[in-house]
Amino acid sequence: MNTKTNILIIGAGLCGSLLALRLAQRGYKITLVEKRPDLRTQHQDAGRSINLALSDRGLKGLRLAGVEEAALQLCIPMYGRMIHDMEGNTFLSKYSGRANEYINSISRPGLNMLLLDEAEKMPNVTIIFNKGCKSVDLENGSATFKDYPTNEEVTYTGDIILGTDGAGSSVRKAMFNHKKFLFSFSQEWLTHGYKEITIPPANDGGYRTEKGALHIWPRGEDMLIALPNLDGSFTVTLFLPYSNSEYCFDNLTTPEMVTEYFTKEYPDAVALMPNLVEEFFSNPTGPLGTIKCSPWNSYGKTLLLGDAAHAIVPFYGQGMNASFEDVVVFDEILDRFTSESTDWNTVFYEYEKARKKDTDAIADLAVDNFHEMKEHTASALFQKKRKLETAFEAEFPDKYYSKYSLVTFKEEITYAEALQQGRAQDKAILNLLDDGKLPEDMELSEKLKLVQQQTQAILHDD
Ligand code: FAD
Repeated sequence: MNTKTNILIIGAGLCGSLLALRLAQRGYKITLVEKRPDLRTQHQDAGRSINLALSDRGLKGLRLAGVEEAALQLCIPMYGRMIHDMEGNTFLSKYSGRANEYINSISRPGLNMLLLDEAEKMPNVTIIFNKGCKSVDLENGSATFKDYPTNEEVTYTGDIILGTDGAGSSVRKAMFNHKKFLFSFSQEWLTHGYKEITIPPANDGGYRTEKGALHIWPRGEDMLIALPNLDGSFTVTLFLPYSNSEYCFDNLTTPEMVTEYFTKEYPDAVALMPNLVEEFFSNPTGPLGTIKCSPWNSYGKTLLLGDAAHAIVPFYGQGMNASFEDVVVFDEILDRFTSESTDWNTVFYEYEKARKKDTDAIADLAVDNFHEMKEHTASALFQKKRKLETAFEAEFPDKYYSKYSLVTFKEEITYAEALQQGRAQDKAILNLLDDGKLPEDMELSEKLKLVQQQTQAILHDD
């Protein structure tokens, strides 16, 4: 490996800071440049800001860089979906029948700060804040940044550039706009946007509702979810259409309308959110979209990773996890293809060849899960299916993994494999349940045999 390679990483979010840490551990000289101020020196209450579901693929990336244990200190385990119906009744639908399989709620800024701290400890990492990338010279490997607040321009070069500047990536835009470069790009927006609201801690500092679950209020078109924070609060996210619906962001324009909507749809949640109306109007509404593009590599000089390469909708809780898995896959490719005279074009090409089908798969799975969460979690057939799958996983832990478990917990298989197997299983179980072929009195082992046979038949037909 040529450890003298200078690597310029653009974007010190979750992916960029983990990547910087890992590549520094491999001996490269890293310059990590971030548009925003250093979030460690800005006042913020990490535990109360946006949180994310961290699961096995993300943990694998953190483990690779030696920071898994430190990250787990920031986590709250969530064992299943706590479904809230219109009457305020709740039931827990476990994520898996295997007791050791759960997901974690973690603060985004808390995790980002940890990764920046660890990267900064490395003598071969320089982190520069307040510099937003404006343009990239793809052929020569340099990027020009605007300094905030002076607006002065500065150019940094690298032997290679890694673009981890998120869904709105400037590096990707440079590829898109480069006339000599054939670049495919697609962006699909959901009709829904999202808005965050807070459930504050209880007066005694505890949690106002069950801490160890991801709460969901599924309402067909709309949905509310809530994830716990370490300080006793929950971050609630409303997913709602922008327009063309009885209740939508376009027409929830007065405190009365907001109160009416929440009281009608989420009465038990309203009781937990004392600042609902105020937060509804002061917090931004964010769009939700999927971005796919190719190639991720230009001229063997620049490569896109993380959301810059593949932004997805958040419904599988996998965007960050996939971005951390990018670091693992990139690291494996470096093991195989680096030498004293590394050909970066080959490294980048092999990386995309190994990774693209999987990030496309999780993008599609995430859209599937949007419909599953907002509509299907409330349906009797879906609940029957989940119950059966949880029983399979508990009784036959080595023989059955639901689609959710394949994606979330079985990190040794790829997203593309999880999609293929998971969709076939779903179809098999739903068909068998609907046709009455899995009666209550049938032995569980017999049910599993039938589901597996039917799954194989579906996979064979596809
Ligand atoms: P980002 O985290 O967006 O980081 C990009 C960084 O680049 C930022 O620091 C930004 O300031 C910087 N930057 C941007 N432009 C420039 C520029 N021009 N120059 C320099 N720097 C720049 N994922 C999960 O795994 N689990 C979840 O539960 C989950 N929930 C989500 C909920 C919501 C509502 C949303 C929107 C996303 C969610 N995600 C989740 C997805 C997750 O947030 C992203 O996949 C993840 O942040 C991607 O990391 P990244 O580093 O590639 O991009």
